[in-house]
Amino acid sequence: MSNFVWCHGPSCHKSHTQDRIRGVKGSKVLRTKKVQQYSDNINMYSYFCSQGCYNDFANKYVREVIAIAPRTEALETPIEVTKEQVQYGWRDGTYTNTRITTVDNNGG
Ligand SMILES: [Zn+2]
Repeated sequence: MSNFVWCHGPSCHKSHTQDRIRGVKGSKVLRTKKVQQYSDNINMYSYFCSQGCYNDFANKYVREVIAIAPRTEALETPIEVTKEQVQYGWRDGTYTNTRITTVDNNGG
């Protein structure tokens, strides 16, 4: 049993590839590609045949997509920053490494 949806890329049916050609001689078309759906793993490739079609959709509908979860203020992740000297290579060289550690403020 196979589930599929049509690729949601707004220009999917305009790409000149052989696997999109349908119809009989004299009335051929480029058709939107089918996308296989696997119910246990839903992600962007469940709705788009390619990264390009996903980008076309996201660029065309970016305002609507952002309206789903608008970011009205910056988010912050509490961290600790420590500097440490790290030795490298066979020449006894050192460089300063900046270590960023996430701080868990929820106790535990
Ligand atoms: Zn597509």
